[in-house]
Amino acid sequence: MNLSRLLLVVPCYNEEAILNLTYSTLKAYYAGIKERGLIAADSKICFVNDGSRDKTWDIIEELCSKDDTIIGVKLSRNFGHQSAIMAGLENYIDDFDCFITIDADLQDDINAITSMIEKHREGAMVVYGVRGDRSSDTWFKRVSAESFYVIMQKMGVPVVFNHADFRLMDRRVLQELGNFKEINMFLRGIVPLVGFRNDKVIYNRLERTAGETKYPLSKMLLFAWNGITSFSTFPMRLVLYFGVFNFMVAMVIVAYIFFSYIIGHTVPGWTSTMLPLTFFSGSNMMALGLIGEYIGKIYEEVKGRPRYIIEKTVNE
Ligand code: UDP
Ligand code: MG
Repeated sequence: MNLSRLLLVVPCYNEEAILNLTYSTLKAYYAGIKERGLIAADSKICFVNDGSRDKTWDIIEELCSKDDTIIGVKLSRNFGHQSAIMAGLENYIDDFDCFITIDADLQDDINAITSMIEKHREGAMVVYGVRGDRSSDTWFKRVSAESFYVIMQKMGVPVVFNHADFRLMDRRVLQELGNFKEINMFLRGIVPLVGFRNDKVIYNRLERTAGETKYPLSKMLLFAWNGITSFSTFPMRLVLYFGVFNFMVAMVIVAYIFFSYIIGHTVPGWTSTMLPLTFFSGSNMMALGLIGEYIGKIYEEVKGRPRYIIEKTVNE
């Protein structure tokens, strides 16, 4: 059986503090699995610099100059985690048989790579890395992540619980993924939509060895919001329900006013004007805002702008 040529895609944004360690760790691991005959000798590692403002790209260039199994991809600016991953994958789709994406901070246990490759050999086209133990994450990160997956699933987005962007994909899957043209690539939701046989590998999430998280709260919330509104129209339905509810409340108020009128307990005109006014203006505004959110998404997509721009590559 022919061994698969594997490309490891590592998105990097301001990772100068850890990149050398990441490189030596991955390199040593690669040497091990090549020796054991799990992957082809011409398997490579691709570091994608996502518009870092620190020395990340200098480090990548230096690594490339002394090691020709390393590919460097430089994006023209910061395009975000998901786009950086797509850049590395799509640019080398013809050169490798399978692809694993992994964060630069070594938080994903690289030992899971072996199991991923084994599952791929057994026929799985997608292998999801699933975090078993999150005790190394902060309490806040754990709770927010948990609620994120629960909300996503409740809204009908087919996310794999506790799976981030540590996954193996066969070239075939990647070819199909290329047909999903949206700019807002929420890979955790899209990859399950591609289908094919899949499997999971459970691993423990480790602590970030160096550097800081590139996902502060604001970015995390934006990511979750994008994930929901790019995938689900449930929030719009919710507004509709809310509107119907408001309408019914207004009917009750009308009945009440009518009743008070009959028994003669009213300041004429006030209740009947103010209450429906506040109710309806409130629910209308809410509905409009939400519809605007989806129109904004349509606007983003119809522009058809590129997901990323590759400025240059090294060691292709
Ligand atoms: N990253 C990126 N572009 C960005 C933000 C993050 O390429 O705009 C990369 C980052 O370098 C890391 C991965 O995405 O390799 C995940 O980011 P991070 O570890 O900061 O997120 P967390 O694990 O805290 O959710
Ligand atoms: Mg991380």
